[in-house]
Parts: sequence; C-alpha cells; structure tokens
Amino acid sequence: MLKKVLVANRGEIALRIIRACKELGIKTVAIYSEADKNSLHTRLADEAVCIGPSAATKSYLNMQNILETACITGCDSVHPGFGFLSENAKFAKMCEESNIKFIGPSYKIIELMGNKSNSKQLMKKAGVPVIPGSNGAITSLRDAISFSNKIGYPVLLKASAGGGGKGIRKVESALELEKTYNLVKQEAKAAFNDDEVYIEKFIENPRHVEIQILADEHGNVVHLGERDCSIQRRNQKILEESPSTILDESLREKMGKAAIKAVKASNYTNAGTIEFLVDKNKDFYFMEMNTRIQVEHPVTEMISGIDIVKEQLRIASGKSLSFTQKDISFRGHSIECRINAENPELNFRPCPGQIKELNLPGGNGVRIDTAVYMGYTIPPMYDSMIAKIIVHAEDRKSAIRKMKRALEECVIEGIDTNVDFLYSILDNEKFKLGNFDTSFINKEFNM
Ligand code: ADP
Ligand code: ADP
Ligand code: MG
Repeated sequence: MLKKVLVANRGEIALRIIRACKELGIKTVAIYSEADKNSLHTRLADEAVCIGPSAATKSYLNMQNILETACITGCDSVHPGFGFLSENAKFAKMCEESNIKFIGPSYKIIELMGNKSNSKQLMKKAGVPVIPGSNGAITSLRDAISFSNKIGYPVLLKASAGGGGKGIRKVESALELEKTYNLVKQEAKAAFNDDEVYIEKFIENPRHVEIQILADEHGNVVHLGERDCSIQRRNQKILEESPSTILDESLREKMGKAAIKAVKASNYTNAGTIEFLVDKNKDFYFMEMNTRIQVEHPVTEMISGIDIVKEQLRIASGKSLSFTQKDISFRGHSIECRINAENPELNFRPCPGQIKELNLPGGNGVRIDTAVYMGYTIPPMYDSMIAKIIVHAEDRKSAIRKMKRALEECVIEGIDTNVDFLYSILDNEKFKLGNFDTSFINKEFNM
C-alpha cells in the first residue's frame, strides 16, 4: 500500500483526499500557497509545506516545487485532485520519472484523452458513438467553414484542451464563424496554452449523463452507474444527481458497456468519467473523458456505497478491484449542490471575502464536503466553489425535499452565495418532474 501521499490541491477536495488517506492509514503532506496559510487542509494533513505565492501558476501549478516537496518529505505518491495539475500529462510524466506514483492514469493516457478532439477519434475507432464533428483538429478558417456548412449550423467551436466549461463557443452561421474563429483560438491559447480547436454539431436540448468507471492495473474494469449533470450555468455543472430520471435499466447497461469499451480501448487505469450527451431520442454520444476524480463523485458514493477516493488509492497501490460488476448495486437517490461564493443576479460574479456567520446543515442523509469555517476568508484567486451539500434518500422526491431542508438550514453571511438560487431550482416544477435539459437554467431563469 502507498505510505505517504502529497496532496497537490486545496479546498474541499484536498480534505476529501486527506480523510481517505487517514482512514487507510496513509500519511499525508499538504501543500499551500501564501494565500492559503489558514486553510483547513494545512491543519488536517500530517505535514504542510508552503509551496509559493498566491498565484496558482507560482504555487498549485508549480510542478518543480511540488515534486521537490514530494521528494524532500519522503512521499511515494501525489494525488492531484481535480483542476490544477490533475489532467496535466507533463506533470504526471515528471512524477513517473521521479519514481513518485501519480494517483491517476499514466501520462500517456492523460495526453491521449486530455485532447478532446483526439480522444473522440480514438472512441470512434473503438466503436463508441461520438458527437458528430470534425475528424480531429480544424486548422484553418476555410476548413472550419466548409465543415460547418456540411454538417449544418449551429455548431460548437471547442478548444481541444478546454475544461471547466471554458473554451466552448456556439456559432450560428458562416459569417459568425468568420468573426469568432480567431478569437476562440486566442482565448484557448490564453486559457489553456494551446490554441487547437475542433468543431462539433450542436446537440439541441441534450441531457449531460456521465458514467463513473474504476479500472485497476490488472485489466479489471467496472462502472458505477451514471450521474445526471444537466443543471448547468455557462456549461458548468451546479447540481448533479444519480440515478438520472431519463435512464432505464437497459439504457444504463448500454451506456455502462460503452463506457467500459472506452476504458478498455485506451488501456485506462484508476478512476475516470466518460461524459455523454443524450438527445431527445435517447441516443447517446461520447463527449469527453475526465481522467481524474470529479467534483460530483459523492453522489455515486452515496448510492453505491463505494468510496471512490479510497479505490483510487488502492488502485494506485497496485491492488486489484475487490468487486466485480455484479457485486455493484445502487440504493436510493442522491443529489449534490455546489455552493459557490458568487452572485447569481450579477451573472454569477464571484464574491470572495470573509465568512462572518456560518451554519452548515446536517442530519440524517446529509453530507457536507467543505473546507470553510466560521471566520475563514475566501481568497479571490481560486475557484468560487466553497462547499458541496450531498443528500441521500430512498427516492428522488425525498432527496429533493431533503436538499431543500438542508439549504434552508444553510447560513453563510458576509459573502454572496448561490444557496437561494439552488433552492429555486429544487422548487421548480419542471425540475421536480425530471423535465429538463442542459438549457434549463437559461430558459427557466431568463439568463
Ligand atoms: P467536473 O466535471 O468535475 O465538475 P469541471 O470541469 O467542473 O469538472 O472541473 C472541476 C474543477 O477543475 C473546476 O474547479 C474547474 O474550474 C477546474 N478545471 C477543469 N478543467 C480545467 C482546465 N482545463 N483549466 C482550468 N481549470 C479547470
Ligand atoms: P468541459 O471540458 O469544459 O467540461 P465539455 O466538452 O464536457 O467541456 O462540455 C461542457 C458542457 O457544454 C456540456 O455538459 C454541455 O452542456 C455543453 N456541450 C458541450 N458540447 C456540446 C454539444 N456538442 N452540443 C450541445 N451542448 C454541448
Ligand atoms: Mg466536461
């Protein structure tokens, strides 16, 4: 088993990893930036090392410093969490070369799947249905226009290296494409240091349904069912649930099998997620693979009883999965709400600052993953997500009611949050009926 893990992240996911390590008897080293001196992850880990100034590029993205810290503190492994270096093939390679286990797939797989247009090509070859689009990257405006004219508008111009909902632009006509092509490339270059773009057919009113998989280093692969992440603002998820109201047993099995096919085709190992869009006819298409733990992993843990982070640690230790597909079953319904420090009325503008009053919900079936505490100051330079509330109940209706009462208990003063906004989603008749798609927030809240 791994003995000492460097947690290369911050916030609630750093705590999530530290907790799993403790329960498995693994030592932890937290890293923190100057802005995070007083963060909880620095206190809960066995050791904590300041890694650099506040700017992420100088701290949480500083590969050299992080690796040196891992070596000096005697870590045998690094857990990257999500965001930051979690899908950085170069970092995973550096770890491998320094004999530090990167808790995730090998750098070659990250490289392959991290480029969204390449991964689609691979999936297509493996026989997994993919969203119709360009065969790989688009390299000139002329190609962009001729391809889009062929598949028909609207299309999406997407950055191959994109993530976090960024680097996606809907284009309605050739004229618009002419205007935005270079702009999107420039934006992609600035955000991801990679200006490669590709084109996808815009799927009208789809559901975002993703499959969680686990693959050990001995060829065993299982899926842990789906998560419906259709409730999004600016292509970013804010509420997720499992099971999805649109899947029946047969579609679940079909999508699960496609996900396993995708995993086997790429020789993938560790935890990963295959993201699909499902259209009105219940046809599903591969969109991308996330080669890391995801924000919304707890909803799967709640209904499957499997601790995904512990499984990541066991897999990285070289252990075989201790269960097969037929051992996995699901119980009840789970919903997650992402609490963000932001103002939904000001176009979700982030709202950092000090928490002056705090009461987080609790009680039967309520799980809170957070790193904030009373008096904590949310720094302005990182992601605005400050907590996740996850509920588990016997069915969807009870889960919705439980989440509503949890949000009612929630008091966070001193900053703006999206708590009331999340409540109004749960209170929406269409949401309650399961009658929604990825355009839900735009349509229902006139965004
Ligand atoms: P999930 O499917 O786990 O919700 P997201 O795409 O929302 O994944 O990303 C999880 C976290 O990682 C978010 O904090 C997001 O801002 C960040 N993130 C994901 N991809 C990137 C990227 N390419 N560049 C910067 N941040 C990213
Ligand atoms: P990211 O890497 O930022 O997570 P994705 O490619 O996974 O980007 O897409 C994020 C979201 O954007 C999807 O969940 C979906 O709502 C929307 N989206 C992406 N591609 C399409 C498409 N071809 N048609 C319609 N919506 C799309
Ligand atoms: Mg995605």
